[in-house]
Amino acid sequence: MPASHISHLQCVLCGATYNPADIAYTCPKCGPLGVLEVHYDYAQIAPHISRASLAEDCDPTLWRYRALLPISYSRKDTPQLAIGGTPLYPVERLRNHLGMSDLWLKDDTRNPSASLKDRASIIAVMLAEGKTVACASTGNAASSLAVQAASVGLPCYIFVPYNAPRAKIIQLLMCGATVFAVQGTYDEAFDICIEACKTFGWYNRNTGYNPYLVEGKKTVGLEIAEQLGWQVPDTILVPTGDGCIISGVYRGFEDLYRLGMIDRIPRVIAVQAEGSPAIVRALEGDGIVRPHPANTIADGISVGLPRNGAMAIRCIQSSNGFGITVSDEEILSAEKSLARLTGVFAEPSGAASYAGLLRLLAEGKIARSERIVLLVTGSGLKSIDAIAESAGKVIPIAKGTQGMDMVEKVVSSHASA
Ligand SMILES: [Zn+2]
Repeated sequence: MPASHISHLQCVLCGATYNPADIAYTCPKCGPLGVLEVHYDYAQIAPHISRASLAEDCDPTLWRYRALLPISYSRKDTPQLAIGGTPLYPVERLRNHLGMSDLWLKDDTRNPSASLKDRASIIAVMLAEGKTVACASTGNAASSLAVQAASVGLPCYIFVPYNAPRAKIIQLLMCGATVFAVQGTYDEAFDICIEACKTFGWYNRNTGYNPYLVEGKKTVGLEIAEQLGWQVPDTILVPTGDGCIISGVYRGFEDLYRLGMIDRIPRVIAVQAEGSPAIVRALEGDGIVRPHPANTIADGISVGLPRNGAMAIRCIQSSNGFGITVSDEEILSAEKSLARLTGVFAEPSGAASYAGLLRLLAEGKIARSERIVLLVTGSGLKSIDAIAESAGKVIPIAKGTQGMDMVEKVVSSHASA
């Protein structure tokens, strides 16, 4: 049952509104791209959340924001995996390196499945109410669903493109999911998943389809606001594929603004790969998202047709934000320098936000004095094949005293460097 504090659902394409009790996924008039946006009755929510009530709440997980989630207040069956409450680092070394005094890094690799997608999957697992769950994914959404389905004991079916990273597939299999590797792209895996959910009555966890999952993702925005002591950042850089995470970040701040808990909304900037630029192209053109062939090493943001493109465009434009693309080379180089300067090992798509920052600084499109948050969405440990070549080389040594001689040589070369 939809929560009573949801007032209605609204199609991002045609604007039609629906009662949440009447509809499960997308707008019947517009089809699969008619993603529905959740609207709340803020008068009903306001008594349940405030800066003061949050200050007294000792739950560090995303459930501290449950008043703003599409789950009934009365439900007590929250799954036990701890999701959200991830660190927002002041990244001192990176600040010094870039000459920026107010740069922050939101490390969402620190979720149970090692990606931000857990924030959405937990909502799916609760709304499934015991049904089998399914999703199509380039990797992280699937592994996060499998992890959480395992934690509550739901059967789980996953559709991945055949070239999804191995570590992510192994994570799925380890958690007991049935995995179909589609001989096609993510977009084709998505279409089969929708069909299978209809045929078998499974609960569909695809974010750019199921209206409630962006609501889970918005908790990252809520956390950033609270972690900064309600001092809203100027800019948040967001790796962008389907458009769901950037929509979620914006919607988190939008909720707080509507509740009067913050006085403005930050600018959100979409960072896409040059090989998967559909949302950036739409922002540069007429605002309509059209399919664009996708080919990038950043598998998590490799999307031909962004399913939540229209919502992302609305959010980016409402925030006075914009979009940029970065090359695969820039992403891989950013992934490495981010790890070396912060200790946070992002996957290629997660490091895209940092690659975007470097590009914007070089082009003078962002001021070093701004309060900027880099969102890192997933762990590099799940995509090591992408970075293996450029990570560096191990130094083979012999055992015993011969080996020790070689160690001494290397260490003295470091000392004289
Ligand atoms: Zn519609």
